Amino acid sequence: MTAADPYTAGGLDALLGDQPRYRRDQVAAWLAKGVDDPQAMTNLPTALRERLGAAMDDPPRILQVSEADGGLTRKVLLSCGSGDRAEAVESVLMLYPPSSERLAGADSTPPSGRATVCISTQAGCAMGCPFCATGQIGFRRQLTVGETVRQVTVMQRLLAGELGADGGTPLPDGAPDHVTNVVFMGMGEPLANLDVTLEAVRWLHGPFGLSARSITVSTVGLVPGIRRLQALDLPITLAVSLHAPDDDLRDDLVPINRTHPLAELLAATRDYLEATGRRVTFEYVMIDGVNTSTAQAATLRDLLTRHMPAGASHVNLIPMNPTPAVPWHAPPIAAQQAFADVLGTAGISTTIRANRGDEIDAACGQLYANYTAASGRTLPVAVGAAERISGRTS
Ligand code: SAH
Ligand code: SF4
Repeated sequence: MTAADPYTAGGLDALLGDQPRYRRDQVAAWLAKGVDDPQAMTNLPTALRERLGAAMDDPPRILQVSEADGGLTRKVLLSCGSGDRAEAVESVLMLYPPSSERLAGADSTPPSGRATVCISTQAGCAMGCPFCATGQIGFRRQLTVGETVRQVTVMQRLLAGELGADGGTPLPDGAPDHVTNVVFMGMGEPLANLDVTLEAVRWLHGPFGLSARSITVSTVGLVPGIRRLQALDLPITLAVSLHAPDDDLRDDLVPINRTHPLAELLAATRDYLEATGRRVTFEYVMIDGVNTSTAQAATLRDLLTRHMPAGASHVNLIPMNPTPAVPWHAPPIAAQQAFADVLGTAGISTTIRANRGDEIDAACGQLYANYTAASGRTLPVAVGAAERISGRTS
């Protein structure tokens, strides 16, 4: 985090402490509107604009836009930082027009439709989940609060039509003109950049004005972070990436399981649910021949029945998107459905996610990882884990 990041609670005061209060309010109002380039803050004196410009990270630049689903899904590669901090991160805009039935796992679609932005909190990720493109990249650096929330404000400007052709093809009819939902499901593990994630949630919920219910934080299972998120006392939606029904397999698929095994993770998840009253989503990436047999579905069903209150959890089955470093793929549709049916026998609400934007390297990190792998970098962590798991399941 830079010394005075204007998106943090005390950041604007630190930057503009010598200015009259109304100046601070003017800047806060610009930022909340999505304007993050001080040069565009037309009611500020030039000297103040320059001071802000020098203190703030450079505004993110759109390096690439890829579209799918007839323009309803737009994946954007954004520049973050400069010099030796220069990175690229991915954000995805998913539009759900009013008539759409393809819901993104949150509450029902309002009459005006939904515009959900999936944001990154880290460049790369240190968690090493072998199926994940971001995990295959490894950790590069933490994003700042500004870098995290500006992914949302860029999309806000895109929706408002302010980016022109930089934002891709014209928006489909009926698209909302503002961001309605934010999911922390892009590159990186949000709870491994905890202070930044909590500050970003605070800004999105406060100045930016999103309801807590329309914000979802997805975690691989960092228990101390779940407890800190709970302490915010906001009904933020929690999504927990499970991916395996037992510790043995999860130790390999989600290595942080060796530190926070399933019983501990599910206890923290249950506490979160009871404290916030929010139903929790469990994400489960379906990998053919690895975690999708009907016996594994039964083990998952029993695990959730044992640890979670009836009717309080939702399982989101995600057919695996292929990634560069492992030979894995999603099982056939019939096997996906058979897995879902087993969960259904215990009344566990289950959806199979229609992956958005398959043709544009949809899982976050893939655009970047494909680019990295194409440049000849090897991703050895993933290969080792894949071999271990294949050896055990074959
Ligand atoms: N680090 C967090 C949030 C980012 S990943 C987490 O792991 O929850 C967001 C979701 O995408 C996770 O559920 C993750 O398991 C899933 N994902 C990662 N790689 C994927 C792939 N190749 N195919 C499908 N989903 C994937
Ligand atoms: Fe990191 Fe999430 Fe990918 Fe695991 S699935 S490597 S935690 S981004």
